[in-house]
Amino acid sequence: MKITYHFTNRHGGVSTPPYDTFNLALHVGDNPANVIKNRTILKHRYNTPDIVWMDQVHHANIQIITSPHTEPIPHCDAIVTDQPNIALAVMVADCIPILMFDPQRHVIAAIHAGRNGTFLQIAPKTVEVMQKAFGCMPSNIHVIMGPSIHACCYEIGDDLATIVEKSFGKVYMQNGRLNLQQLNYDQLIQASITKEHIEISNICTCCHPDYFSYRREGTTGRFAGVIWMEEGEVICKYFNTMRSLYKSIE
Ligand SMILES: [Zn+2]
Repeated sequence: MKITYHFTNRHGGVSTPPYDTFNLALHVGDNPANVIKNRTILKHRYNTPDIVWMDQVHHANIQIITSPHTEPIPHCDAIVTDQPNIALAVMVADCIPILMFDPQRHVIAAIHAGRNGTFLQIAPKTVEVMQKAFGCMPSNIHVIMGPSIHACCYEIGDDLATIVEKSFGKVYMQNGRLNLQQLNYDQLIQASITKEHIEISNICTCCHPDYFSYRREGTTGRFAGVIWMEEGEVICKYFNTMRSLYKSIE
């Protein structure tokens, strides 16, 4: 099985400010015709099969997808499939777009891990679904966290900071700033994912003008993480030219 994944950025589409230009979300106030055009561009540029989108609500509802869907999956923040020729997409503008794949069992997942989803342990819960529904071994699952807001910019209120420190540990707060990537990383290690199989983009969406950032811009677009499988040799193909900016953390 050939597994392909990709993270878009804000360039290469047709939307106008403040959604310029490659906004992929229909729920943020952009002209729907432009969003549809952008989704078509995405599909053609990477020869992507039909893409399944989610109606993301910052919860931890995880759905197994068995066929293409023209409508977004309602009230859903993670989707999993073992079917080839279905692309799974997650939209973000600061939240972590997490993609997972198991090259042994041929299972893929797309996860929307914002603050709430992370507090609800959506990443390890998705691993659990992959285990229970498809017999995946955590040691075979690979995880990629795409561009998202990092601790440099993710200041949160005192009340919330106290909750994070009490619920998860002081290590996740640095000078009033939340390290969401570390929290997801530790949850995945707890779920028996191998550390060598976890990659985290060091791009902070709030610092980096090539990405949409809700924190920086308020009204803005969404970029996406997309993953799919096709029949063929076992290979993992990665389209992002900024590969060198990706790293694993201890
Ligand atoms: Zn930053």
